[in-house]
Amino acid sequence: MKHTKREAEVLKAAAAVFAARGFHQASVREISNEAGISLAGLYYYFPSKADLLFRIATSAFDVILEKLEETLAGVSDPEERVRVFIQNHLEFFLNHMNEMKVVTREPGFLDGEFREIVAEKQRRYYVRSIEILGGLNATHWSAEGLRASALSLFGMINWIFTWYRPEKDGDAKRMADQMADLFLYGFVQHKNGVRHGRPNSDENASVSTVQAAAVIQQNLLKEQEKISGHPSCTRPRAGEISGGTNMSTASFEELIERARQIVATPVGEVASEWKRSHPGGKVVGCFPVYSPVELIHASGALPIGVIGGGNQIEIAHADSRFQSFVCSIVKSTLELGLTEKLKDVDGMFFQSICDPARNLASVFKRNFPKMAIEYLHLPQNMGSPRVEEYLVAEYRRVLNGLQELVGRTITDQDLERSIGLYNRSRALVRSFYEVRRKSPERLSTAECYLLVRAGTLMPVEEHIALLEAARVALDGRSVKPKDRIRVVLECSFCEQPPLELIEGLEEAGCYLLDDDFLLGWRWFLGDIVADGDPVRGLARGYLDGSVYSGVKHDLRTPKAKHLVDKVREMKADAVVILAAKFCEPALFDYALYRKALDEASIPHLALEFEEKMWVFDKARSEVETFVESMLFE
Ligand code: SF4
Repeated sequence: MKHTKREAEVLKAAAAVFAARGFHQASVREISNEAGISLAGLYYYFPSKADLLFRIATSAFDVILEKLEETLAGVSDPEERVRVFIQNHLEFFLNHMNEMKVVTREPGFLDGEFREIVAEKQRRYYVRSIEILGGLNATHWSAEGLRASALSLFGMINWIFTWYRPEKDGDAKRMADQMADLFLYGFVQHKNGVRHGRPNSDENASVSTVQAAAVIQQNLLKEQEKISGHPSCTRPRAGEISGGTNMSTASFEELIERARQIVATPVGEVASEWKRSHPGGKVVGCFPVYSPVELIHASGALPIGVIGGGNQIEIAHADSRFQSFVCSIVKSTLELGLTEKLKDVDGMFFQSICDPARNLASVFKRNFPKMAIEYLHLPQNMGSPRVEEYLVAEYRRVLNGLQELVGRTITDQDLERSIGLYNRSRALVRSFYEVRRKSPERLSTAECYLLVRAGTLMPVEEHIALLEAARVALDGRSVKPKDRIRVVLECSFCEQPPLELIEGLEEAGCYLLDDDFLLGWRWFLGDIVADGDPVRGLARGYLDGSVYSGVKHDLRTPKAKHLVDKVREMKADAVVILAAKFCEPALFDYALYRKALDEASIPHLALEFEEKMWVFDKARSEVETFVESMLFE
């Protein structure tokens, strides 16, 4: 496919952005900035981000194959043909390093026809490599051996971008000679640059090259169908996440930076980009606190956290639908919808947590008739003998709605798999909280928050990979403890405080041993048992294995007792109540908590926040005064 000069410039810019940020994280706006073109102009040339990736990949394979055929045309010696193949590959990619990174790492994110076309070009290139290798000495190798040799060769030449330095390694010709010698004669055979002959000097063997390659090719094509991608093009696996962060080698700080970038991406952009790379896929938003994300994931849709607009949005329209004394998250979430920022969100989950959330669900239903609005009626009487049957029925009702949305049946196997994945991600999150409790100097609350919040904006499979890598990287971190008081933080379970406020609390002299940030995303105390009836397993988990919270009504154990017990168990010095302005459940709880904490002689400080706040000095100085008074005592 030929491109105009302007199209080629945009593709070059897109390759640079994808190479630096990864397909998922790169935004179309960044590409338009890099290319020096307006967003509208970019969309004129390329209708979607997936289209850009598709053109980069197909163009790379077209050029490399065309050039290969041209260069091979006058070469008959089998060994020379292998050398030409290697040099052609290196020449193209060393001159197009960004395209090489993109073609190596990202095409697995394509779907549908795009994916098939790119896969076909990959296959052609792969088969050509087999024919060339087979021409060298086809009868010496079984089909499996030839396949392994070709894949090894691709392994060597594809990942050169991770270590190549032109000043040390020379140009493509020199690298190609060196790699060809290594591949053809091996490291020992080729010691001191002296070739010691071919592995099989039976000249007759090369006579049958074309026929043998044809036979072998048949087997290899079957083999190729079984593998999901070409050696040069695979989805990120465990050990990698999109965006160029090599998870196995990234430092803890690099992984936190990656999480920070993900968290900074507006939720609407996450939805739009996911849908562009998953044509026909659905995105379902989850308003806090707890949504059964396993049900959404099992349907094949992407569950994402719609947790207000933070400080990224001005309230200009939502004020007309809500009174001034309503919490900020309700208004900013509606504002996201009214300003088209949720246009690629197909459904929204709300729950019976409070009156404002209930009203928000109704306002959404009226204002966005095309969106599937689900209002989950969570049990209000956990002691009732019928409560389990009630919640199972409620989950099944929700499941039916999801089936309608995605147009397919959700099986128990789907549910079990999703439950297993979320069990894994929550177990990892619990392990980070455990670190904070035992040695809070090693992991700040803000870092922990970023790791958890990133999971509200990415597929759980990728989140697990991020958490696993971060968990390993954290083990190598050793930090000297500071003289700070040990605090439990409570009442931020729904609207989320700005990250700067969380950081400010710690800098004011606290180690936050525990908090209830993003509580719905880590709702369960242990694994959900999915065997047999996964829906019932989820219901039982909610009833008997979930956290206490201001929005869960469980009279079997008073919430205040949970808080006091937790403070004692963690040997915390104090409690900070950090409640969202106008959050009724949090303010009701504060009355109960204050009484219980006073009776237990546990010092406490109450602060109010709004998701959209810019000045943190007042909160910080209140905490500093509180900390000093405790240290003085
Ligand atoms: S912040 Fe509080 S009042 Fe507002 S929606 Fe959340 S739980 Fe309800």
